[in-house]
Amino acid sequence: MKVGIVGLPNAGKSTLFNALTQGGADTAPYGFTTIEPNVAIAAVPDERLTTLADTLDASARVPATIEFNDIAGLVRGASEGEGLGNQFLAAIRETDAICHVVRCHGEPNVPHPDGRIDPIADIETIEAELLLADLEQVGRRLERVTKKAKSGDPEAIADRDWLTAVEAALGAGEPVRSIPPPAAAPGAARSLGALTSAPVLYVANVEEGAVEVPAEVAAHAERAGAVAIAVSARIEEELAELDPPEAAEMRAELGIEASGLERLVRAAYELLDLITFFTADRETEAWARSLRRGSSAADAAEAIHTDLRRDFVRAEVIGWRDLVDAASWAAARERALLRTEGRDYVVADGDVVLVKT
Ligand code: GDP
Repeated sequence: MKVGIVGLPNAGKSTLFNALTQGGADTAPYGFTTIEPNVAIAAVPDERLTTLADTLDASARVPATIEFNDIAGLVRGASEGEGLGNQFLAAIRETDAICHVVRCHGEPNVPHPDGRIDPIADIETIEAELLLADLEQVGRRLERVTKKAKSGDPEAIADRDWLTAVEAALGAGEPVRSIPPPAAAPGAARSLGALTSAPVLYVANVEEGAVEVPAEVAAHAERAGAVAIAVSARIEEELAELDPPEAAEMRAELGIEASGLERLVRAAYELLDLITFFTADRETEAWARSLRRGSSAADAAEAIHTDLRRDFVRAEVIGWRDLVDAASWAAARERALLRTEGRDYVVADGDVVLVKT
């Protein structure tokens, strides 16, 4: 699962990304690692994993992760090839969710590309580029699909009708995600590869010491059906360099409750509509793993190991809290707390799953 970080130049994307990357060194196991200069893997903080691993005396604990991609180069005119233009647009197409960093702080030493601080105008600049790029893409696709629809192919007809609705929405300034993809043309959304189909999380990069999302940004997010969080990228970068106890002290002084990075990672996790299930037993490691909400036990097996879907016979399932209360697998079995489930069982957030082959 990939989250793309976008925003105007100087919005604070790299600062936030650096904070995500540096935070890892000292806070393992909830670490962050950089795999490419602009790609970081962030661990999803989850106290349930710690409790579970302690209870079962697991030899290691491995958190669920999300990939963050720092996508630089979006400037006014990107949809027409300005800045990094197409390269940047291609990077966005590969993401499952967008984290939109919006400059809300007024630091005079940080130049703004348009020479003024106006979070809503900035959001609109970015979103207009994405909409324009999508509009162009829809036009091209519509031409091709319309030809195919003329032959009477029902899938092409559904695709064409959807694209027509999408074109109208984009023309009215609405994102592709506002038009549900057609059931009769399952590949339509993927073939379009829109930039405005992924869900968005707004990150208001606020003044040092501020904790609230500015009202106008909160209102914009609400209208868009999106979540907004307030973070000071600069403070998070500074905090990420401190030892955890020092960081906690500084947070308390500043009145920032949870780590901004943790809030960001959690919000991204929810945005992706992910749930967590655990795998754990005494001899091995305790893992938290992510799954799309609504996934089956067979999907969970595949998330553990690709071959496990094929070899799946049944799963033993227990809620993490029940297992912790029982204190051991043996006790949980004795109390008949383990359920046997088939491959179609819909995994619940917090399930501990043992796949039997
Ligand atoms: P990007 O172009 O979006 O990646 O922006 P950067 O992360 O490189 O930030 C541009 C400049 O703004 C840098 O000099 C940062 O130190 C500064 N900056 C970023 N976030 C903040 C913040 O929260 N407060 C202040 N005062 N400056 C910030």
